[in-house]
Amino acid sequence: MSAPRADFPLLAAQPSLVYLDSAATAQKPRVVIDAIRDYYETANANPHRGAYKLSGAATDAYHGARREIARFLGAADADTLIFTRGTTEAMNLLATAWGHQHVHRGDRVVVTRMEHHANFVPWQQLARDVGAEFRICELTDDGRIDMDQLRLLVTANTKVVAFGHVSNALGTINDVREIVKIAHAIGAVAFCDGAQGAPHLRVEFDALGVDAYAFSGHKMLGPMGIGGVIARRALLESTHPYQFGGDMIEFVFDGDSTWNTLPHKFEAGTPNVEGAVGLAAAVRYLDGIDMDNVRAHEVELTRYALAQLATIDGMQLFGPAAAEARSGVVSFNLSDIHPHDLSTMLDVDGVCVRAGHHCAQPLMRAIHQTATVRASFYVYNTAADVDALVASLRRAHARFHAHAG
Ligand code: PMP
Repeated sequence: MSAPRADFPLLAAQPSLVYLDSAATAQKPRVVIDAIRDYYETANANPHRGAYKLSGAATDAYHGARREIARFLGAADADTLIFTRGTTEAMNLLATAWGHQHVHRGDRVVVTRMEHHANFVPWQQLARDVGAEFRICELTDDGRIDMDQLRLLVTANTKVVAFGHVSNALGTINDVREIVKIAHAIGAVAFCDGAQGAPHLRVEFDALGVDAYAFSGHKMLGPMGIGGVIARRALLESTHPYQFGGDMIEFVFDGDSTWNTLPHKFEAGTPNVEGAVGLAAAVRYLDGIDMDNVRAHEVELTRYALAQLATIDGMQLFGPAAAEARSGVVSFNLSDIHPHDLSTMLDVDGVCVRAGHHCAQPLMRAIHQTATVRASFYVYNTAADVDALVASLRRAHARFHAHAG
């Protein structure tokens, strides 16, 4: 086991709960909850604004957290980490601020068929707004990006390739470096949605070469409402801010204004200090386990789950066959049981899985499913959780067919 269940108060309080929905949000270790409480009990004030010591403590807590999170994600320049509410806001920031400034009529925007709506719709709408072409790279039968098609789609007029590090619906891990190479070969930027990457894989932002990498704290053991995007300094410096207000300002004249330095330029208004502090505690916790161990544990669990699930009659699994090619996400359907009915039946046994389109409707259409059931693993899951899932699925199957028959 990578992380003891006892470290997670909610799991410790509910020993029979089988939590298999970490791709939606992760449970929080006590150290994260304690860090947030400690911040409020010892250092709470509005950062940046006060000359008094307490405001300085809040400022230090906020920027100290930024440094720790940037280091965890492999970025040497912490001021290029912009805090947002999460990946959704980060992708909207890129599409709105960078996109409207750099993408014009006749340009091309490329995404992939496996994108979460948060990394699909902002680019689709940008393309509509400015009159650019919006192109979708299709997938292979086993749920990987068709790299040959991507090479053809990324033409000289392409300005941006927006793609996920890991698919939340299929678990597929994409080859970030190769996609970056394809984009950069023609001078396009490559923006990566790391919502499902950062929690599970060692991210080396500086080495990956990607122009921006977005993440959500709540999927990596941190609190909700905090996440961010790390981007190349030159890209951020040349991009006009998209939200205006306190903190992001240098001077406000009657007719125009000038902007604060990075990261403040993109962080208008009072920031989420408790979120940043909580997320810093989360990445310290993950560092303590070591991301290589996080990954090894997930590969082992995923391999076991794929093998066990395949023994159930009527099981249809989606995504790459090899556990090494995917993160701890297993998407499936079981004979003709509706995914929502199935997840409700599993809930009776205390097994929490997600059923639906996983905010990936374009993908669901391509795999001819209206929805799938998704089990997703993280550091606190064990082989016993997989066994509970499989036993519950067998019971559900038997019950459903008894009624149907
Ligand atoms: N992209 C992917 C791949 C995701 O899995 C999610 C969360 N389901 C998001 C983006 C959006 O993240 P958030 O809701 O935290 O902004």
